[in-house]
Amino acid sequence: MWTDSIGRRRFLGGLGAGAVLASTSRAQNPILPVRKPRVVVIGAGAAGLTVAKALANAGNSVVVLEAKDRLGGRIDTRMLGGAPQDMGASWVMGTSMNNPVSEYLSLKGVSLQNDSVPYHMFEEGTGYLPQQQLNQLWSRFVNFTNMLPTLRSTLGPNANVNQGIELFLDTMGYGGISRERTRYMIQTEAETGYAGSIDDLSLEYFWEDSTFNGQVAFPQGGYVQLIDNLAEGLDIRLNTPVVSIDHSSRGAAVHTPFQTIYATYVVVTVPLGVLKSGAIQFNPPLPAAKTNAISRLGMSGMEKVVLTFDNAFWSSVNDLYFKSNVDGEFSYIKDMTQFSGTPTVVAFSGGDFAAQMQTQPASQLTDRLLAVLGSLNGSQPPVPTGSHVTRWGSDPNFGGSYSYWAVGSSPADNVSLAVPEGRLHFAGEATNELYFGTVHGAMLSGLREAGRILNSNVTVPDLL
Ligand SMILES: Cc1cc2nc3c(=O)[nH]c(=O)nc-3n(C[C@H](O)[C@H](O)[C@H](O)COP(=O)(O)OP(=O)(O)OC[C@H]3O[C@@H](n4cnc5c(N)ncnc54)[C@H](O)[C@@H]3O)c2cc1C
Repeated sequence: MWTDSIGRRRFLGGLGAGAVLASTSRAQNPILPVRKPRVVVIGAGAAGLTVAKALANAGNSVVVLEAKDRLGGRIDTRMLGGAPQDMGASWVMGTSMNNPVSEYLSLKGVSLQNDSVPYHMFEEGTGYLPQQQLNQLWSRFVNFTNMLPTLRSTLGPNANVNQGIELFLDTMGYGGISRERTRYMIQTEAETGYAGSIDDLSLEYFWEDSTFNGQVAFPQGGYVQLIDNLAEGLDIRLNTPVVSIDHSSRGAAVHTPFQTIYATYVVVTVPLGVLKSGAIQFNPPLPAAKTNAISRLGMSGMEKVVLTFDNAFWSSVNDLYFKSNVDGEFSYIKDMTQFSGTPTVVAFSGGDFAAQMQTQPASQLTDRLLAVLGSLNGSQPPVPTGSHVTRWGSDPNFGGSYSYWAVGSSPADNVSLAVPEGRLHFAGEATNELYFGTVHGAMLSGLREAGRILNSNVTVPDLL
């Protein structure tokens, strides 16, 4: 569990202007005929590239099919303001070497920059709160997590986090502005960590996922370093959406708009949001255990607004809890200047506000963030040199940012999602019952499925 403030996960993401950094040079014309590969991997994110790399290194013939025109999936490093900026995953969540991301990047010689900066809290209409008050709000959040067993036994297994917060606030007797700020703190920790709305997050399983030890850190040069290293030497077909899969105990036929590819094994790594949408047809259909898990698990929204400037004109952003007058708006703002190398601010929004952002024009969101930055020290914000608003929630290839335990779901659903159907295997962050919603969870799921197919234990050094 992270003890350094904003929860243990602290990620929040985007798509927009700027050039995609992930190399697309390995893309091949999807119309070219393909010789029968042994394994088809669907999706070129962290999970897909991990399983593909492990299987290819073990001597298998592997083809990766990716719907988009770039690699990386929910890892999306783009040039903005002349520097690499991560619009999806940005933090390595624990630098200990049992985190596969840390181990792999270390073996590949990619440095990590530890993220340890001061925190502040700014309340719209009030201004900066004293540090002591922020410390008190943090300790109330910790108290909330300590009281989870009691809250659960009172509210039952079908309660959401919002109900838990209300009961906690009542029990502690917090009223007025103290209640409002405590509620903001718990909501922000919940919705920036898990990204689901507090009305949907399961109280029963809140804060029950696993974490790795060590600092949180940023890969130098962006998360694209992980993707480019994993992708090296693999046969990857970009712009190749899979529309249906015929599967049996002997193998599978994978259909794209351009061709049908036959395989001994197929590994499906598309996001939970894509499985929910039914964009891929499975013949025969997936069993009820899997389809029920797909519908019960939640797929969250977490969106980023990223602005770059010539000068860091703002004061005291560092890591900023922003309590907006609009519920959930930019609830966490981070100054990325020292990590990206150019004056950069990233505003994160999860929960219901992230859903509302899908229909708001990018200019409206960037103007509002500019106004917020100006209000911090009463200055007139300059014109940004770059801006980007992410739209993970409305991109059909993702259908959201990452999975979470919604009311009614449980870790058993992640396990059901991971169960192979004959020669059809499933990987991806949502199939990891311990580390869902993370890059390391995705990588571990890729190692797991490579291990199942090879019938051996596959570890990070097998990716080299
Ligand atoms: C905004 C944001 C911030 C985040 N921050 C962090 C963080 O700081 N740290 C962290 O550890 N994690 C973070 N995460 C979570 C992390 O990015 C994901 O858990 C992880 O990258 C998922 O990897 P994956 O391989 O499971 O899925 P993906 O990366 O989504 O890969 C699946 C691929 O399948 C492709 N696809 C979809 N449909 C089809 C189809 N029909 N045919 C072919 N291909 C298809 C998609 O285009 C995609 O490339 C963040 C996520 C977001 C969105």
